[in-house]
Amino acid sequence: MHPFVIATPANRVDAVAMHWLDPAAAFIAGGTDLIGLMKDRVTTPARLLDINALPSMAGIETLPDGGLRLGALARMSDVAADPQVRRRFPVIAEALLLSASGQLRNMASIGGNIMQRTRCAYFRDADAPPCNKRQPGSGCSALHGLNRNHAIFGWSDTCVAVNPSDLAVALAALDATVRVQGRRGEYGIPFADFHVVPGDTPEHDTVLGSDELITAVDIPAEADAPASHYLKVRDRQSYEFAIVSVAATVRLKRRRIASARLAMGGVAHKPWRLFAAEQALPGLALSDNEGLREAIGRSFVDAKPLARNAFKVELAQRAVLRALRTAGARP
Ligand SMILES: Cc1cc2nc3c(=O)[nH]c(=O)nc-3n(C[C@H](O)[C@H](O)[C@H](O)COP(=O)(O)OP(=O)(O)OC[C@H]3O[C@@H](n4cnc5c(N)ncnc54)[C@H](O)[C@@H]3O)c2cc1C
Ligand code: SF4
Repeated sequence: MHPFVIATPANRVDAVAMHWLDPAAAFIAGGTDLIGLMKDRVTTPARLLDINALPSMAGIETLPDGGLRLGALARMSDVAADPQVRRRFPVIAEALLLSASGQLRNMASIGGNIMQRTRCAYFRDADAPPCNKRQPGSGCSALHGLNRNHAIFGWSDTCVAVNPSDLAVALAALDATVRVQGRRGEYGIPFADFHVVPGDTPEHDTVLGSDELITAVDIPAEADAPASHYLKVRDRQSYEFAIVSVAATVRLKRRRIASARLAMGGVAHKPWRLFAAEQALPGLALSDNEGLREAIGRSFVDAKPLARNAFKVELAQRAVLRALRTAGARP
């Protein structure tokens, strides 16, 4: 691996200032993604800014309005085990527990998780085949290559990769907000706007400025979702990224759906909300198989599978149906 130095900013403002003065530096939290990317020479920062000692960023706290704040430095395993998270937002705990391995979850942070980069094999290949995300303008090896695990929504000819984070899918369904420290102060980014589609600039995964620091993720009180579920479909039952995944929250009234929120992973460059299905579901009973399938199908009319992943279109709809039923069956 290339040589690098480590610096330790004392507070958030210093961290942002140090990064601004040295744009080629990189924040490091758990290091479970960044170090792999450095070993594969995807990124070669000469300076790492170790943010682990920054104060007040590792907690899980209830906000005055009843919402929940997950510190950017909170570890995945601590958030998954938190009693409030498990009781009020089981979809988060499940998404985390189905991610990576126990050892990784003990190291990996919430901020690092939603910033992790795609698992497209071409992007991570140390021999650097054409990849617009890694080397803008070089081409996309996956577009007509090995694209079984790639996108069916929102892709462009420049990049067909998917976002690998399980947690991000749950946070998208819960309408969370990413709290960010910039040079001009702290502000929030709605989760739906945080990750981006590739368009002509696939080198960007998010709207976060290169010198901006994630301080926390806020989950609104009204997202209180005990009837929620995260379903992950993958090639093996542990230690594997999703082929498709679903975060579902459901409210029932007299045994019929009053409202539902649905987000998918493994299908796009960003967590993908199924807004058309969400609008069509209210009024349906969870036992109405045909009605549910029809409503879910409305979000798949614009699916555009690639040569090797047409199977995802049917698999994804079945996964949504099952996740919805499991969530709705919860008290
Ligand atoms: C073998 C393996 C299997 C995995 N399986 C899964 C899985 O099934 N599901 C899943 O969701 N994930 C999985 N992961 C990914 C893992 O969850 C991420 O590597 C981890 O969450 C990243 O967190 P970290 O704290 O280690 O981030 P780091 O590696 O420290 O950082 C990752 C990126 O985030 C940036 N960053 C970190 N913190 C901040 C911040 N506060 N503000 C701004 N930028 C920041 C860094 O600069 C870097 O670019 C797997 C990883 C491995 C190695
Ligand atoms: S899909 Fe995206 S990440 Fe993968 S090779 Fe193409 S440009 Fe690179």
